[in-house]
Amino acid sequence: MKVAVYVVEQGGEWQARISLNLGVDELWWAGEGWGGQLEAQENQAADRVVLLSRSLPLGWAVKLAAACQFTDQMRRWDEAAWRKSAAVLLKAEIRAERAAGGGRGEGWPFEEAKVYRLPEDRGWSRYGRLEGVWGNEQADGQGNVRENWQENEQVGVQASTRTKLRRNEQESLRRREMEVLAAGADRLVAALDGRSLLQGEAEALVAEQLPELAEHWRAAAQLAYLQGRLRLTAAVQGPAGAARLGLRRREVPRCLRCGSVPTGRTACAACGLAGCAYCEACLALGRSRACALLLRSAPLPAVRCTAGVSPTVAARRWGA
Ligand SMILES: [Zn+2]
Ligand SMILES: [Zn+2]
Repeated sequence: MKVAVYVVEQGGEWQARISLNLGVDELWWAGEGWGGQLEAQENQAADRVVLLSRSLPLGWAVKLAAACQFTDQMRRWDEAAWRKSAAVLLKAEIRAERAAGGGRGEGWPFEEAKVYRLPEDRGWSRYGRLEGVWGNEQADGQGNVRENWQENEQVGVQASTRTKLRRNEQESLRRREMEVLAAGADRLVAALDGRSLLQGEAEALVAEQLPELAEHWRAAAQLAYLQGRLRLTAAVQGPAGAARLGLRRREVPRCLRCGSVPTGRTACAACGLAGCAYCEACLALGRSRACALLLRSAPLPAVRCTAGVSPTVAARRWGA
């Protein structure tokens, strides 16, 4: 699959994230709360978002997010500087892809990198705020979230005409949907507790145990990830991700399902690469590949999720 990847600055601290549903991220980094007691002090909004790509092969996005290192100078960087920096971090991947006959023109795959200053640059997710959470859930056959945001904007238009609600009514509807999403994230986290599942396995589990989330599990998973309760990673990881997970053999990618070195490479419709790495050792269990999403439960507080805020508090602010 392909996912978005971005870095965010909040109160002088930088973090990198991947995203299955940018609408959720936009709400999260807007410092939106659920109206609870903690909102005023805990809901610090982000100051800046640099969207590096809206659609990057998952394995690349995971590596990029793990490899990002931040300096104060970045506050002055323009898009060109970000583009260059991101391309350096994925130099080996980009070179290998070009050698395999893939890749596109100059600046690929970061042509669309863009810096957004918050809160002025609203709508950076390109989804209507409410519709973003629910509207881009439709996936194609490959498990990719549909990328055509214009369609979603139309959904947004329908959504706003569907009711012509007054502003405060819309607000309360949005809050209600956010609560539903937060509750969905809670249930997803509970169902995945202690597990490590490939996307297809997670979808099967959702269909069986949480059918109400069948349409929206990406949004729920994204929220759980932002809360630090769920890890989103690639089934086959390269050096950066492997190092973070404490695995040895830093230079060798590993299949996280079986631990083998992935030896296969294939043109892949799901991520668009000419050479998507996959594991031949556990092929019988379904293809474990560099762009296959692996969801792993993250016991609190394993992941630092929000600068200066404990995951528990952060989770609470999203109604958990
Ligand atoms: Zn394997
Ligand atoms: Zn792929």
